[in-house]
Amino acid sequence: MLDKPVVAGNRGSSNAPRVVVVGAGMAGLQCARALHSGNFQVTVLDKGSRPGGRMATRPIDGHLADYGAQYLESRSQEFRLQLRDWQAEGLARLWGFGFEGEAEPSGLARYLVEGGMNRMPALLGDSLGVRTRTEVESVSLDGNAWMLRLKESAPMRADALVLTCPVPQAIALLRRGEVELDRKLAKRLDTVLYEPCFTLIAQLSGDSGIPCPGALSLDGHPLAWIADNQQKGVTAGSAVVTIHAGPEFSTSHFDDDRERVIRLMEQAAGQHLASPVRARHLHRWRYARPRTPLAERVVVLQEQPLLLLAGDACGGRDVEAAALSGMAAAKSLLARLREGSPDVH
Ligand SMILES: Cc1cc2nc3c(=O)[nH]c(=O)nc-3n(C[C@H](O)[C@H](O)[C@H](O)COP(=O)(O)OP(=O)(O)OC[C@H]3O[C@@H](n4cnc5c(N)ncnc54)[C@H](O)[C@@H]3O)c2cc1C
Repeated sequence: MLDKPVVAGNRGSSNAPRVVVVGAGMAGLQCARALHSGNFQVTVLDKGSRPGGRMATRPIDGHLADYGAQYLESRSQEFRLQLRDWQAEGLARLWGFGFEGEAEPSGLARYLVEGGMNRMPALLGDSLGVRTRTEVESVSLDGNAWMLRLKESAPMRADALVLTCPVPQAIALLRRGEVELDRKLAKRLDTVLYEPCFTLIAQLSGDSGIPCPGALSLDGHPLAWIADNQQKGVTAGSAVVTIHAGPEFSTSHFDDDRERVIRLMEQAAGQHLASPVRARHLHRWRYARPRTPLAERVVVLQEQPLLLLAGDACGGRDVEAAALSGMAAAKSLLARLREGSPDVH
């Protein structure tokens, strides 16, 4: 039973191409949403327990904290319009135009997500029926289609595939399935490097002392950021701060004992906090942000069968880049599918 391939869901006729998106972060969700509004249904798979990827929120002692992306900002008209819609729907709210300690304030408006950053992908994912807790182990060629081996469920066939996980993870899936990419392209993908990041969520026994509107930008040695989730409106009744370490600290301590990292981060945060830490949780992001992103918003890894690469590293290093990349992948996919199939309109 486990070995029988299942067919990716599609609302159209049984001849319509079956599309799978791997990853339900902002890139994967925006890609699936755009395909959906083009009347084209896709299957979105994510190994996590909820959609969102690095737009992550979790509880500590019953109080929520954003522990991945902290805010949204836009440099493009396309994402600005999207943010305006989310604001009108009461999902996003202006947080500020800058934070204390910023070395080079961009002056751009920063938006937070009401109820925590993860609420946005969770809502987007709900309407798309994302298959969570579904880890893709490998991707291989199967005639003129892709075969996805899944951990703990039946393999899945797809006529077109969009990979939106961090680039090294996407490459690993293809290597495990013995997919050979064009050598020049493979070399270019190997240049995409990421910064790791340690995030410490700390519940305090009193006020945080973090200046209004609830965030402090630091030089990254060793800490880069402290945000107060209570001031931000993510949680109520207790001060819970999110502390990000800088890239150098996170790289050099990446394999250290967790207790040691917690101790060092807590010590460094102490001088900025007005109250002692009561409870803590440490998260280690291996692929926090791309350091050397690619220039293009979507990369065509293979034409036949279609294989696209999208995600924040395609064109940037933030949520906006991920969203624009997802939209670009959908556009590129729709254009090709409409060309190749009379069932796609
Ligand atoms: C600590 C931190 C702070 C940040 N701060 C900001 C900020 O303030 N503002 C901002 O704009 N950006 C920020 N970013 C960056 C931002 O979070 C990312 O750029 C963006 O969320 C990336 O979206 P994505 O869809 O490309 O990737 P992801 O969100 O990483 O989504 C990829 C998804 O793929 C899934 N996946 C991976 N492998 C598999 C597999 N084998 N099978 C199935 N699923 C798989 C993962 O579970 C994940 O959900 C921050 C990131 C971090 C980590």
